[in-house]
Amino acid sequence: MYHLACIHCGAEYAPGEIIYTCPKCGHLLTVDYDLDAINVSREAWNRRPISVWRYREILPVTIPPVTLQEGGTPLYHLERLGAEMGLPHLYAKHEGMNPTGSFKDRGMTVGVSMAVQLGMKSVACASTGNTSASLAAYAAKGGIPAVVLLPAGKVALGKVAQALMHGAKVIAVRGNFDRSLEMVRDLCLKHGIYLLNSVNPYRLEGQKTIGFEAVDQLGDVPDRLVLPVGNAGNISAVYKGLRELETLGFIDRLPMMTGIQAAGSQPLVQAIQGSLPAVVPEANPETVATAIRIGAPVNGEKALIAIRETGGTAASVTDEEILAMQRDLAQKEGIGVEPASAASVAGIKKLVEEGRIDRDERIVCVVTGHLLKDPETVIRQCPPPIEIDATEQALLSVLHLSS
Ligand SMILES: *Cc1c(COP(=O)(O)O)cnc(C)c1O
Ligand SMILES: [Zn+2]
Repeated sequence: MYHLACIHCGAEYAPGEIIYTCPKCGHLLTVDYDLDAINVSREAWNRRPISVWRYREILPVTIPPVTLQEGGTPLYHLERLGAEMGLPHLYAKHEGMNPTGSFKDRGMTVGVSMAVQLGMKSVACASTGNTSASLAAYAAKGGIPAVVLLPAGKVALGKVAQALMHGAKVIAVRGNFDRSLEMVRDLCLKHGIYLLNSVNPYRLEGQKTIGFEAVDQLGDVPDRLVLPVGNAGNISAVYKGLRELETLGFIDRLPMMTGIQAAGSQPLVQAIQGSLPAVVPEANPETVATAIRIGAPVNGEKALIAIRETGGTAASVTDEEILAMQRDLAQKEGIGVEPASAASVAGIKKLVEEGRIDRDERIVCVVTGHLLKDPETVIRQCPPPIEIDATEQALLSVLHLSS
């Protein structure tokens, strides 16, 4: 019911071929379904619990999936922050509430299931952290070995802890993420290991369900969907999925896809703002938001289409703006996210201040990963606990209460 297709030359490949880019032209692949032949109804979906697998008819997995019950994450109405920004319809979809604390789990439940379905014996990825944490957990659940390459010294503590604890072989590369990805791509192609970075079109199939859930939870298509962008896999996946819903006749329009990057790592923003034909890599990406510290977005070509076809946009935010929004989400909404995740909401704040978006829009910001992923960045921003002697007097004194 599906095949692989090149987004550039249109060449088609059998679903079982172990390829990550088009053998003819080198461009990205996508999973094409014969949507006319797929028997699916909104009513049938609505009877199932909200999760990645609610939408299984338009996912590539035909075996019982390797699952940790991913998806079904909360959609919060940001009443307080929205009021401050003058946006009455501002929402956050908290992807940090997935099994390993990021949206990568949606990709990995499908990706690792496909590894098993395709008969692959081991899996690998390069990662800024969350991909490795997620792959390690799903490989453990699937019972296959995993290798993860991380840029040495540049991965948040919680993510390394997860990759190690779930039993992956964790390798720290003295180089940045982009170099680690080159190395792991080479390794996988030469040694028959299944590559689960977001260049893998099957992994992105899982991630497209963020958009499906957002539509189901909102009860309508949001006017704008906002995502932090690193490799640009997620924004591309969500766009692709919503296009499929449109083709199926389940929705009648698409949200304006909006990508947010960090000021020190913004090649996609430059391509959009400069109307460039392709994304020009940034050689030395730098940002406190390590999950989006990526200079050469692998899915740049797909993301440009997603943004341009929907009348969306891209914008960048500074590290200060990212951290301020991380604190605001935590302290005004009770939503704990890692820095990269706060970028989506920080980006909306900036766009509305610059008058680039309409205040009446219904906006869903995807907040991508959990607060506990990066405790060091949290501790650096917050005053330390107030230590006192173990007496009532000392306690009352720091609370400015009298006895
Ligand atoms: C992976 C990741 C991103 C970036 O997603 P891309 O698909 O690479 O654009 C953003 N935030 C967090 C927390 C992530 O883990
Ligand atoms: Zn091609």
